[in-house]
Amino acid sequence: MWSPCSSRSLNRLSSHDRESNFFSTDLLFLRTEPQVSEQSLESQLMAQTTPNHTQTVSGWAVLDSSGKAVPHTFKRRENGVDDVTIEIMYCGICHTDLHFARNDWGITMYPVVPGHEITGIITKVGSNVNKFRLGDRVGVGCLAASCLECDFCKSSRENYCDQIQLTYNGIFWDGSITYGGYSKFMVADHRYVVRIPENLPMDATAPLLCAGITVFTPFKDNNLVDSPGKKVGVVGLGGLGHLAVKFGKAFGHHVTVISTSPFKEKEARERLGADDFIVSTNARELQAARRTLDFIVDTVSAKHSLGPILELLTVNGTLAVVCAPDQPMELPAFPLIFGKRSVRGSMTGSTSETQEMLDVCSKHNITCDIELVKTDNINEAWDRLERNDVRYRFVIDIAGKSSNL
Ligand SMILES: [Zn+2]
Ligand SMILES: [Zn+2]
Repeated sequence: MWSPCSSRSLNRLSSHDRESNFFSTDLLFLRTEPQVSEQSLESQLMAQTTPNHTQTVSGWAVLDSSGKAVPHTFKRRENGVDDVTIEIMYCGICHTDLHFARNDWGITMYPVVPGHEITGIITKVGSNVNKFRLGDRVGVGCLAASCLECDFCKSSRENYCDQIQLTYNGIFWDGSITYGGYSKFMVADHRYVVRIPENLPMDATAPLLCAGITVFTPFKDNNLVDSPGKKVGVVGLGGLGHLAVKFGKAFGHHVTVISTSPFKEKEARERLGADDFIVSTNARELQAARRTLDFIVDTVSAKHSLGPILELLTVNGTLAVVCAPDQPMELPAFPLIFGKRSVRGSMTGSTSETQEMLDVCSKHNITCDIELVKTDNINEAWDRLERNDVRYRFVIDIAGKSSNL
């Protein structure tokens, strides 16, 4: 998914020059050393603060805006007292990976090692870590760090912390650039690591760590996890949408898929269990479904108007937007006003919500529908993802025998 906080990785560097509450002593040191100002701030940080990055890792990275993934060796930090080291088994391919690979948002720090849908096995445990042991099955999603001090961090909503650092293309507290899951192992702060329930497979669970949590939290925030019998709409039937359908059905709701593609109806109804299907370009079908839905989650990142979707909501209904088109979305006032409707956003989920989602998935046997790919086929998978030619998520077999790592 698209992560609005990605850009903060860079914004943070400049804004924290002026703030007094930043707790990285290395960066505080740099702030008082004006003579290093001729270098870029990033290279200062890397040079000054990463002496403990001694572990050599093989992975796949994109080196420049050509956007092609190639084998790449890089360094990770030693396992610190709050860290766990994870031998990566699988990593899902998220559309965000493509955006960063191609520098679509102008904030990519090459080389970028993508991947924030990571599952693996713990091989080292820091001395402050109590909740994990060697051999545990764990996952890492979009978050690498947050400030731990703000109201959001203190109330298990750290995904809304203003200082969050992402699993890749972020800047960790030691000043190093973060590298993601397209790699053999990673070192992660245990506060952003979740446990994978025993009955969930490691490959088909990987995409739950971004795609899954992205559509789970809107259900949770709108009290739809434990209150069955509502009428729920899902706009778009891709990686996120198919999981939203699974959640909606597992939680006992009547689920309507809203899609531009009539040919997806059979799949939606017969394989995923959707109750209804609306072709969003068909005015008659839209009119017939006016004011019928209590809640809609919109998973489409292509530019589209929210007006016709809002009309499907009953009075006081809610539309949750979880994907971001490059252009502003069209939001007409009349359907909002005449239906007293709300539009709200949602940004993945916190670590505790991600654990809650995995436990719910364990209970209902929900996993992502995946196509497993070898590391050598990452570029091919990216090309197919670009064409929406995937059912429904690619997952890279990092630890498999055929892996080129
Ligand atoms: Zn993602
Ligand atoms: Zn915080």
